[in-house]
Amino acid sequence: MLESDNSCLIIEAGVKLKEVKKAINYNMSKICGCILTHEHKDHCGYIREYLQNGIRCYMSGGTAEAINIDSPYVKKITPKCVFTVGAYKVLPFRTKHDCSEPVGYLINHTECGNILFATDTYYLPNTFKNLNHILIECNYAAELLEEDMPKSRKSRLLTSHLSLTTCIDALRANDLSKARNIMLIHLSNAHSNAVQFKKAVEAETGIPVLIAEKGVIMEV
Ligand SMILES: [Zn+2]
Ligand SMILES: [Zn+2]
Repeated sequence: MLESDNSCLIIEAGVKLKEVKKAINYNMSKICGCILTHEHKDHCGYIREYLQNGIRCYMSGGTAEAINIDSPYVKKITPKCVFTVGAYKVLPFRTKHDCSEPVGYLINHTECGNILFATDTYYLPNTFKNLNHILIECNYAAELLEEDMPKSRKSRLLTSHLSLTTCIDALRANDLSKARNIMLIHLSNAHSNAVQFKKAVEAETGIPVLIAEKGVIMEV
């Protein structure tokens, strides 16, 4: 969730609305909308609560179809077409994941600058200029995968999630000259090491790295 002085943009519906409300002191008028990346439960599991509370939820046509939900608050967006949510300008871009039309977002706010939000993607096809804050998946490290991991599970992982190495490559490919911080998100329980990942990304980029808790709030 991104919070600026007078508005808050929920990134994904994977957290109970009750928790979001608590985090913003029950000031529901602050919430300007919720942006969804794809249809997997950990990213949209609570969407019904959000819609029932009149929160506009933005998602690709493929995501809307996969969730199979009908509400006037479902707003379909198109990759590469900028849309506005409250004080935020949002550019969706395609990501690489095993689902229907997944997207990431480049979010701009006059006070906070440019925020990249990319999760559940085995590589990042785009590069961006003038990034100020980065929230990026860093799911696993190849050396932490079990040797006897079933082939099908392994190949699914390699073609759906961002490894530490690919995360670093993606960061290197981007303009980080104005980046203030990098938040690593979506770390696998079994195949990640938060301390090691933070150190590695800080060493490669020279930028302070944070590790996200579930349902993290970022005041920008
Ligand atoms: Zn997913
Ligand atoms: Zn996920």
